[in-house]
Amino acid sequence: MSDISQNIQTLKASIDKIAKAHDIKQEHIHLVAVSKRQPLDKLKEALDSGHRLFGENRVQEAMEHWVDFKKEHNDIKLHLIGPLQTNKVKDAVSFFDVIETVDREKLAKALSREMKKQGRALPCFVQVNTGDEPQKAGISPKDLGAFLNMCRDLDLNIIGLMCIPPVDEPPALHFAFLKKLAQENGLNNLSMGMSADYDRAIPLCPDKGQLYIRIGTGVFGARDSA
Ligand SMILES: *Cc1c(COP(=O)(O)O)cnc(C)c1O
Repeated sequence: MSDISQNIQTLKASIDKIAKAHDIKQEHIHLVAVSKRQPLDKLKEALDSGHRLFGENRVQEAMEHWVDFKKEHNDIKLHLIGPLQTNKVKDAVSFFDVIETVDREKLAKALSREMKKQGRALPCFVQVNTGDEPQKAGISPKDLGAFLNMCRDLDLNIIGLMCIPPVDEPPALHFAFLKKLAQENGLNNLSMGMSADYDRAIPLCPDKGQLYIRIGTGVFGARDSA
């Protein structure tokens, strides 16, 4: 068995164990294998092990990584988990399956326009800046209600909320806050938890929805620093 396949099995066993301990249905938890800055042979190992759900944070790199693999496997699902510039919206809408980082009005409008044009109403998450960090992308919690209303007016298919907690605060607090914000706004799905903290996201899996945990190094090992 390859290292990657081993890592995925180990992670899945860990996910199942935590889910069971918290009375959560394991099929509500989805492992998004974050393949940014990883070599193609590792991506291939993940594919060979049967994994199909991946996250990338840059449009151009994602296309270079996946264009050929997508021809071989029509069931690959790609989530965009990084900041999206409006000049990349066209490629993002045609290439990705889910956009997790809707984080500002200009982008919401561009996505809405492009999805209508391409006839692809992709599921989207709104990224929330749960720690209100000035350097971080995402909608401030206090502006979320108004932003979601605007997204609905634009016919964007918002299915949930995504966050990246501040590095120096307990992630569980932010995960719980994100879950509360989702409940208050009638959204069922969450994207939260990475290699270092997914164990604290799983217990907060929404009762009626899906939890997407985004794991990079835990699946593929250390990334290229470039
Ligand atoms: C890179 C990245 C991850 C994965 O991080 P790891 O610590 O390698 O698991 C998850 N989410 C986002 C938004 C990322 O950019």
